[in-house]
Amino acid sequence: MNQSSDFRITLLGTGVPTPRPERFGPSTLVEAGDRKLLIDAGRGTTIRLHQLGVPLGRIDALLLTHYHSDHTSGIPDLWLTGWLGSFYARRSKPFRVIGPVGARMLMTNLEKAYAADIKIRIEDERLPLEGIATAVEEFHQDGVVYDKKGIKVIAFEVDHGDAIKPAYGYRIEYNGRAAVISGDTRYNANVIKYGAGADLLVHEVAAARPELMAEAYIQRIIAHHTTPREAGLVFRQTRPKLAVFTHIVLLGSEKVPASEIDEIVCETRQIYDGPLQVGEDLMSFEIGETITVRRLLPETGSR
Ligand SMILES: [Zn+2]
Ligand SMILES: [Zn+2]
Repeated sequence: MNQSSDFRITLLGTGVPTPRPERFGPSTLVEAGDRKLLIDAGRGTTIRLHQLGVPLGRIDALLLTHYHSDHTSGIPDLWLTGWLGSFYARRSKPFRVIGPVGARMLMTNLEKAYAADIKIRIEDERLPLEGIATAVEEFHQDGVVYDKKGIKVIAFEVDHGDAIKPAYGYRIEYNGRAAVISGDTRYNANVIKYGAGADLLVHEVAAARPELMAEAYIQRIIAHHTTPREAGLVFRQTRPKLAVFTHIVLLGSEKVPASEIDEIVCETRQIYDGPLQVGEDLMSFEIGETITVRRLLPETGSR
């Protein structure tokens, strides 16, 4: 029998910029002990948290991987809605954001953009000033960025392309176990270095059919990400208890249909034969002696 564990990773959004209803923007919930951390806040983060019954104000810190908008467009919603006085929100302490250089500018400008709303709600709803304040910490190199209540989060630089810097992944350590989130990256040795010995390795993936690869824009997108075969190489070298795909980029065009999930798995399997799961929104992974996978949403087949 698997002992239940208080270390759990839940994929809130497994998508990309495509506005699909079944794959929301990138966001991953980390629960360890009584702490709840979020990694990225893409489109729909608040909806997924609400589906889980997690009050928006319960998030202890938001960690950002990089500044592509699909990873950050849910921030104002989480920050502002999380401040409301209703049961699903109620943040009464500052909104804590940890990210590579750029986090401060993002939050400072959001404070300016939403100044009218903040002023209105303070006067009208008497919401606590503390709850809308922001507390931002920036980092600029690999290292520990969060260390509280037995949870240690280590940021590590990844390679999302020469023009897309900074870009980081995260390793979360708790109770002798580790989960690693690749962030957006092409095949990168740092993911293997920090992914070594991980129980759970959550990795991005991108695929396009060979006939699409002649297109310059497709080449550019694929060059920013990790192909299924490359992901297989990462998994083969890190040997996690479970490898999981998220941020699933399936490129297509008007003429050429996008790759299917099964094809991604098939290509990965040419390189890697260990445990592998294709992530879905609200799929959770309880990390104990073994890893227990749960789904909150029913399977809907092709996505
Ligand atoms: Zn990106
Ligand atoms: Zn992305």
